[in-house]
Amino acid sequence: MKVKLRYSHEAASKPVLAEIILKTGLLINIIEAKLTPKEGEMVIDIATQGQALKRALEYLRAAGLEVTELRSLVEVDRERCISCGACISPCPSRAIRFDESLDIEIDERRCIGCGICISACPRKAIQLI
Ligand code: SF4
Ligand code: SF4
Repeated sequence: MKVKLRYSHEAASKPVLAEIILKTGLLINIIEAKLTPKEGEMVIDIATQGQALKRALEYLRAAGLEVTELRSLVEVDRERCISCGACISPCPSRAIRFDESLDIEIDERRCIGCGICISACPRKAIQLI
């Protein structure tokens, strides 16, 4: 599950992610981070589901972070997409494929938000969320 965290001034000075990793043993991958000593935003991938994920999100909220669960890092404008497939092979995570109806499908578990598909699309049909 990918999650966007927004740090307040108070929370930015605490080692929140290090603490949650030590306490839970969860694997957490930092995808993007814009932090200053005063505030910041971070997108992380927490490698778990179910109750363990729920507990991790509760821990982050209790630590004073604003938590937004992300379904995916990019989205496809279905009205612009012509199913040409030009975005599929450039994706370094193999996160894009055709579904049974030949519509483009993005696997949110694989997507790392690199944005390469955005540049590859001739119809400008993909954007970061
Ligand atoms: S943002 Fe990067 S990883 Fe995600 S679907 Fe596009 S090319 Fe693939
Ligand atoms: S490159 Fe753009 S138009 Fe082509 S399939 Fe991907 S999203 Fe659709």
